[in-house]
Amino acid sequence: MQAAMQALSCDIAVVGHGAAGLAAALAAAEASPGARIAVLERAPEAECGGGSRWSPSNMRLRSAAELAPGFEDDMMAASGGRGERAYFRRLAEDAVPTLAWLAQHGVAFHSPGYYLSSGPPRIQPVGGGAAIVAALARAARSAGVEFHYGCRAERLVRGPAGEISGVEATTDGGIACRARAQAVVLASGGFQGNGAMLREHFGPGGESLVPISKGSGFNAGEGIRMALDAGASVSGDWGGMHSEPVDPRSTGPAPVVLVYPYGIVVDRSGRRMFDEGRGLVHETWEEYSRAIHFAAPGRKAWAILDARLRDIAGHERAIRSEVPPIEAGTLGELAALAGIAPQGLADTVAAYNAACTADPAGFDATRADGLAAAAGLAPPKSNWARALSVQPYLAYPLIGAIAYTFGGVATDTEARVLGPDGPIAGLYAAGEMTGHFYGTAPNAVAVLRALVYGRIAGRAAAARLESNQPNPDQPDNRQAR
Ligand SMILES: Cc1cc2nc3c(=O)[nH]c(=O)nc-3n(C[C@H](O)[C@H](O)[C@H](O)COP(=O)(O)OP(=O)(O)OC[C@H]3O[C@@H](n4cnc5c(N)ncnc54)[C@H](O)[C@@H]3O)c2cc1C
Repeated sequence: MQAAMQALSCDIAVVGHGAAGLAAALAAAEASPGARIAVLERAPEAECGGGSRWSPSNMRLRSAAELAPGFEDDMMAASGGRGERAYFRRLAEDAVPTLAWLAQHGVAFHSPGYYLSSGPPRIQPVGGGAAIVAALARAARSAGVEFHYGCRAERLVRGPAGEISGVEATTDGGIACRARAQAVVLASGGFQGNGAMLREHFGPGGESLVPISKGSGFNAGEGIRMALDAGASVSGDWGGMHSEPVDPRSTGPAPVVLVYPYGIVVDRSGRRMFDEGRGLVHETWEEYSRAIHFAAPGRKAWAILDARLRDIAGHERAIRSEVPPIEAGTLGELAALAGIAPQGLADTVAAYNAACTADPAGFDATRADGLAAAAGLAPPKSNWARALSVQPYLAYPLIGAIAYTFGGVATDTEARVLGPDGPIAGLYAAGEMTGHFYGTAPNAVAVLRALVYGRIAGRAAAARLESNQPNPDQPDNRQAR
C-alpha cells in the first residue's frame, strides 16, 4: 500500500539553501511579510549551503559600491557573444543594490587579493561564502522563513490552469511530502554532483570528476530536470563547466594550486602538457584542469617548481592546499617521491631550461610578463619562462576538480522560468541552475548572479502572491491560500 503524502503548507517554496535560494527566501519574506515561505534543502543542516558555503565568493566589483568597469561587455565577451545582454545588464544594474542589502544584513566586504596574477577587480565577503549563507539564513529565519533540511525536491506540481502549484519532495527518512505553493523558486545548483549527467555532457571520464567542495556534490541537476519536465527551455553551454586544478592530497575545501604558470606541468611520464604561461591563471585554469582530467594518464599531473617560488611575494595565497609540496634536492629524487618517470622529467626540464632566457630579470608573477621561452619549445611557454635550477625542487600533484556546470534552464530578467511559449506561471529560478554561461566562466560572477537573481526571484514570487490575493473584502484571505 502506498504511504500517505505529508502536506507541507506554504505560499512560496524555495528549493536550495545556497546563495540564490537564501536570497530568494529572504527577499520574498521582506516583500510579503506574513507569507509562509519554506526552504527545502536536500542536505542535512550541518552540511547545507551548497557550493556557496565553500566558495571564497570573489565578486567582480571595484568595491561594494562600484561595479568593475566594462562589466556587461566583459560578460558578453566571456560567453563568446552567446550570452543574453539583457540578463547581464540587469545583473549589472542590481549588483550594487544587492550588496547594499547584504550589508544591511551584516555581510562586510574587503579586497584581500587571491591568486597572484592581476585580473578584473574583485571583492570578497569577509568570511567568504559561509558568511553570506549564515547571514542570509539568520535573517530569513527571523523573518519567519521555515527550513526543511534533508528534504529533496523531486517534482513540480501543476495546478488546473497549468500553473506551478507546488513541489513534491522526499525526506531523508523516506517520507514523501507535497508543498502546495503559489510560487516555486528553484535554486538547487548545477549537475556537478551527478556522474551520469557529467558523462552524458562531458563524455567518458565525466563521471569521475571530483567536486571541488563537499557542498557541490549535493547539486545533482534535480532542479534542472524538474523544470525541464515542466516544460522549461534550456540555457547555457551544456558542455561547459568551471573547474580548477587542486591538490588531491588535501582534505580541505577547494585546495587550489594556482602557481603552475611559474613552473611547468608534467604528466606521469614527465611530459609537459600545455603552455603553462599562456595567460593569467583565471584565463587558463578551466582549460588546463579539464586537460588534466580528460587527457593525462591516471587523470593526474604535477606542477614542478623550484625554490624561487618562495621568493614570489604573496605566493602562499595562490596555494590553498594545506599539504606542503613534495620537495627534493635533485630532480631525480623529486620524480621518485612524486611518482613521475625520472628520465622523462630530467629530459623535459633540460629542454625547458635550455629554452628559457638567460636573464629573467623581467619576471613578474602579477602580470603577463612576456618572458617567453625560445621558439621551438613544444609546447611553448609564453610568459614566466624562468629556468628551474634553484634547489630544492618542488612538486604539487594536481587533479582537475569541478566547481559548477553551465547548462541549465532559461530565465528572463524577472527570474521567471521560460518555456517555448513564454514564462511558466508560478515558476522562478536563480543561480547555477539557470545556465546563461557559455564558453568560459566569467571571472568572479557566479555568486554575484546567484544573489542578484535570487533576490529578484524572491521579490517576483512575492509579487505573484500579492496579485493572487483574494478580494480583501471577502472573509479571510491568507489562510485560504
Ligand atoms: C570551492 C568553490 C569556489 C568558488 N569560487 C567562486 C568565486 O570566488 N566567485 C564566484 O563568483 N563563484 C565561485 N564559485 C561558484 C559559486 O560559489 C556558485 O556558482 C554559487 O555559489 C552557486 O550558488 P547557488 O545558490 O546557485 O547554488 P549552491 O550554493 O550550490 O546551492 C544549491 C543548494 O541546493 C541544494 N539542492 C540541490 N538539489 C536539491 C534538491 N533536489 N532538493 C533540495 N535541495 C537541493 C544543495 O544542497 C545546495 O544547498 C565557487 C564554487 C566553489 C564550489
